[in-house]
Amino acid sequence: MATPYTATEDIGHWIAGAPHAGSGPRRQAVFNPATGTVARHVRLASVEDVNAAVAAAQAAQPAWGEMPPLRRARVMNAFLSLLNQHKDTLAAMITAEHGKVFTDAQGEVSRGIDIVEFACGIPQLLKGDYTDQVSTGIDNWTLRQPLGVVAGITPFNFPCMVPCWMFPVALACGNAFILKPSERDPSPSLFMAQLLKEAGLPDGVFGVVQGDKVAVDALLNHPDVKALSFVGSTPIAQYIYETGASHGKRVQALGGAKNHMVVMPDADLEGAVDALVGSAYGSAGERCMAISVAVLVGDVADRIIPKLAERAKTLKIKNGMELDAEMGPIVTKEARDRIEKFIGIGVEEGAKLVVDGRGHRVPGLDDGFFTGGTLFDHVTPAMRIYNEEIFGPVLACVRVPDFAAALKLVNDHEFGNGVACFTSDGGIAREFARRVQVGMVGINVPIPVPMAWHGFGGWKKSLFGDMHAYGEEGVRFYTKQKSVMQRWPDGASKGAEFTMPVSK
Ligand code: NAD
Repeated sequence: MATPYTATEDIGHWIAGAPHAGSGPRRQAVFNPATGTVARHVRLASVEDVNAAVAAAQAAQPAWGEMPPLRRARVMNAFLSLLNQHKDTLAAMITAEHGKVFTDAQGEVSRGIDIVEFACGIPQLLKGDYTDQVSTGIDNWTLRQPLGVVAGITPFNFPCMVPCWMFPVALACGNAFILKPSERDPSPSLFMAQLLKEAGLPDGVFGVVQGDKVAVDALLNHPDVKALSFVGSTPIAQYIYETGASHGKRVQALGGAKNHMVVMPDADLEGAVDALVGSAYGSAGERCMAISVAVLVGDVADRIIPKLAERAKTLKIKNGMELDAEMGPIVTKEARDRIEKFIGIGVEEGAKLVVDGRGHRVPGLDDGFFTGGTLFDHVTPAMRIYNEEIFGPVLACVRVPDFAAALKLVNDHEFGNGVACFTSDGGIAREFARRVQVGMVGINVPIPVPMAWHGFGGWKKSLFGDMHAYGEEGVRFYTKQKSVMQRWPDGASKGAEFTMPVSK
């Protein structure tokens, strides 16, 4: 059993480099999903609280933006070292409020740390380009400058990693950043704010406003917030994108998913089973890159379904702090009930329920928000359980005759976040990677979350905006390009020119 996180005091905001209780009385319960009990409360920011955080950020940003990138990178380096020291504290906070198993939470923190390491290389990333002699005696260069105050709104399912997709890059680029984390698991964000201060980040440059739609709308409406990064469900992503854009802000809004894994008849079957079980039931399916649809090509279905059923029935479902747990509880009772309702819908729609996870109880944790792993066979594209994001441990298997049908199925879906193809045929793999209409592709890799320097983003209804999160796209998102052209007069004026200047 890992050491649990047990603090009981209210989780507040972080404004101007210090904890801030907030101006209003609103607060919300934060549950321990394993026990089903209220562990602590989170303050919900008012418009005034958001305004205070933006004002502090606006005041602090110019000096931070003027600081040489190398010095900003040194602050990131100090933060990196603190994150590494406190990795397990952060992981325990995540398990306490999200429910995912501790070892998975450690992995989440590590993937967040990867982005901080990437941000430490900001001097190289911000290096501009230069052309000597674009015309006789004239040079031209481009540089990238920070936007000012930017904000991020993040989902419950990665309370450390997803904020880290945003703020390390934004800060390293010279912006001030305000984070509005999920109200369901607010502790990691506040802890990271403390570590940033300890790392030497000037007060005000990083702020946290806890809360709900009130805080989000205040950020959307604030004229001093120049850009918004959002990760969450598709309807809210679309709302953030449209509202932010109508207020003249730069927006990247990452939405929901329904990720398919195509299993070709020539795939390594045991490898495919392991991949499906881990990616469908890991983190109780509450990952935007979870596999929720298995596309079984040709005769593979009859060979793989019994193996999947066996594994789904024997998952080790426990309090996530138990070190041998494979799956923990669902984040809230409402989310658990919604997942179980979807299973009922699947049955009504005529899918074959091979393993029913409903009503799963863990001994000693009778009030925990648990559900078991669920497996459906004979799912069709007409069904709601195929089309809608369930965001739980429910794997839907669709049978198709051949590769062409598998590819068409994936490409016709409205989401396009991640996808995988398991095969031993290099030609099929190549064809799949080139033709599939999805942003992140795995070949014999079930959850192809790109590394820090590659950037993360889906296609279709999984992303609204032009640029992916982190990587070089992240640097571009958090900076604006400036082009400078210079000539040093050599004495003799050539006189006024009335034609479009061309290279001479
Ligand atoms: P959510 O959309 O409910 O909430 C995300 C954020 O938006 C939270 O901070 C929340 O407080 C805020 N919010 C919620 N309702 C709002 C409203 N009406 N107006 C303004 N703000 C609002 O998402 P969630 O349940 O926290 O997270 C799960 C979802 O996130 C899933 O759909 C999952 O696929 C998606 N997700 C996507 C990615 C990706 O990279 N594409 C990554 C992680 C999670």
